Amino acid sequence: MDQPAGGCTRPHTQHPATRRNQPGNSQDTSDFGVIARPVWVAILTRMDRLWTPWRYNYITGQDERTRRSGVPRSLDAWPAELDHHCVFCNMIAAADYAIAHGMPQQQAEGAIYLLARYQYCYLCLNAYPYSTGHLMVVPYAHQASLADLPEPAALEMMRLAQRVERCLRSVYHPDGLNFGLNLGQAAGAGVAGHLHLHALPRWTGDANFMTAIAETRVLPETLETTWSKLRAALAADSAT
Ligand SMILES: [Zn+2]
Repeated sequence: MDQPAGGCTRPHTQHPATRRNQPGNSQDTSDFGVIARPVWVAILTRMDRLWTPWRYNYITGQDERTRRSGVPRSLDAWPAELDHHCVFCNMIAAADYAIAHGMPQQQAEGAIYLLARYQYCYLCLNAYPYSTGHLMVVPYAHQASLADLPEPAALEMMRLAQRVERCLRSVYHPDGLNFGLNLGQAAGAGVAGHLHLHALPRWTGDANFMTAIAETRVLPETLETTWSKLRAALAADSAT
C-alpha cells in the first residue's frame, strides 16, 4: 500500500522472492518452517520499512511530514491558507516560500528532499523509499493523467528519467532499476491527483528474508545521506 508523505507510493512491482512465497505456490510452507499459513498470508498483505534508530520519527509519525500534506515542520511558516491539499504542490510551494523569506536554499530544499529543479519538473526523494535511492520525477503541473500532461513536461520527464538512470547507476551501481507511473488509486497511486514517475535502483536479492517474513525493508543509509549523494550526482550530470 502506498504511503504519501513528502513523497509517496512505492511502485507496484513485486520481487520474485515475494511472489515465490505467495499462497498457492508449492513452496508455501517450506520457507517459513512452523509459521502457520494464515499468519504469513496476513503478513504479506503490507510492507513497512525498518529505519535505523535515528529515523525513528518516521515510524512514530513524530516528524509529522503529513500534517499538512508534504510540508515538514521546518517549513511550517508557509501560510496555511495556501494549502493546495496536494503533497507535491505543497512541498515545492512551502520550500519556495521559505527561500523567499530568507531560508537558505539548500536548507529549504533539503527539508523536502528536493534533488534538482528543471523547467517543467523537479526531482525529489521518496520519503518512504522502497529501496535506497528511490526518487521521483514530478511535474510542477498538478495533473493526474499522463495523456493530459502538456507535451513539453512529458518530454522533460523522459529526458530526466535518462539522467536519473545515469546518476543512480553511477552512485549505487544497482543490478537493475524500476521506473514506473501509478495512475489512479486503483493502480496504487498514493497521490492520485498529481502524477509522478518513480525511479528506484534494485539489487539481486534485495527482497531478503526480512521482506518475506517481517514485511519490513532494511535501508542501509539515511534519507539525508541519499539526498546528498544524489544531489551532487545530478548537479555534476547537469554540468556535463
Ligand atoms: Zn499537485
